[in-house]
Amino acid sequence: MRYRAEILTIGDELLKGSVLNTNALFLARELTDMGFSVQAQVACPDSPAVIGQKLAQALSDRGDLVILSGGLGPTPDDVTREALAHYFQVPLVFSKAQYAGIKKHYRKHGLSTVPSDVRKEAYYPENAVPLMNRYGIALGFYVRQGNGLVVVLPGVPSELEKMFKELVRPLLVRHFSDLEPRPKLVVKIVGLSEPAIMRKLGRDFFKGHPFEFGIYPEAGEVSIRIMADRQKIIQRLTAKIKKRLGRSVYAYEENRVLSEAVGKALVLRKRTLSIAESCTGGTLSSEITKIPGASRYFKGGMVVYHNSLKEDLGIEKSLLKKKGAVSREVALALAKAVRRRMRTYYGIGITGIAGPTGGSAQKPVGLVFIGLATPQTARLKKILFWGDRRQVQTKAAKKALEYLWHEIQ
Ligand code: ATP
Ligand code: MG
Repeated sequence: MRYRAEILTIGDELLKGSVLNTNALFLARELTDMGFSVQAQVACPDSPAVIGQKLAQALSDRGDLVILSGGLGPTPDDVTREALAHYFQVPLVFSKAQYAGIKKHYRKHGLSTVPSDVRKEAYYPENAVPLMNRYGIALGFYVRQGNGLVVVLPGVPSELEKMFKELVRPLLVRHFSDLEPRPKLVVKIVGLSEPAIMRKLGRDFFKGHPFEFGIYPEAGEVSIRIMADRQKIIQRLTAKIKKRLGRSVYAYEENRVLSEAVGKALVLRKRTLSIAESCTGGTLSSEITKIPGASRYFKGGMVVYHNSLKEDLGIEKSLLKKKGAVSREVALALAKAVRRRMRTYYGIGITGIAGPTGGSAQKPVGLVFIGLATPQTARLKKILFWGDRRQVQTKAAKKALEYLWHEIQ
């Protein structure tokens, strides 16, 4: 059975653009994976009247599940629990268990008394079932509505995510027992543009049994997401993608990133890496160290921003003068020098013009050279990226990872 869900995120900060609505993203993804059809995501202000109105609308339009987040805090601007009590025409009641949890939480942090307004966070509407929050202060809760459910969770993303996984997901599985997760395929691709991917997939890829297809470009890479009614269809499509996109695919999982795939490949081949980066200012090293256990293959990176530091690493002053810091020769020299200095198998050197100033006719903004050295060879890539400074840096780091990924294979 397909059930319809709506996400209602509450908070003035969401409407004003001061906070990115990551709860909507998280909930939409989780619910879709579980098999819900998410009909709408609504962000609404901390206003009891609007919350009541949006909830009524969600229940009448879309029915089965409404998940609300935020506005359960202790301050007067957090009004979600009062709004729901009002909507259901019930009083608020006190959860002794959550209050005991709050007191424990305070004691753990060396505070002896719980402020009186924090007590408010242990209340829930009388017709609801509490959802204990072990990760913070505000109690969550849910209310049965006919065959449907209204679930209310705190706004703090880390609390919401943990409570969803621990409490809400099992609740939904129990309540919507004939929920059918839709088979899904995620494909993460580097080194091919969207049109190139579509060309490689070919028209016949879309013939046969229908499926949902989405293709999404992000900085320096592209993701494909496919959903179908049956696992069989997914399997058939996976086989086609493997054949047609081959080594450009680095993962078939949502949460895998390129630096992780590169790390796995390095571990597998027992190879190490060091980096000397100029225009990316540490972005590449930062990407690599986001992966736990990176010390197994990553010795370190240097941000050789100023020419004097490039010289310290062993780049000839005359070379810098003759060819310029942004040149193929310097990128190669950086890769070789850092590899030698840090005694690693691979060495990467990056130099370029991130902009917005500093470009010229011969060396425009966005021009980046990436050198890659091994004990046997040293190779180079010259790329002209477009975008602002941050985009050029991100794309250059991604390109270096892609370059290394193909080299390791
Ligand atoms: P608590 O009382 O534990 O803070 P709460 O339910 O009152 O929980 P809020 O006060 O609304 O939550 O928000 C707490 C924090 O979570 C704020 O920093 C807020 O910006 C952030 N937050 C709220 N809603 C969202 C959202 N939809 N996406 C991302 N962050 C959010
Ligand atoms: Mg709030």
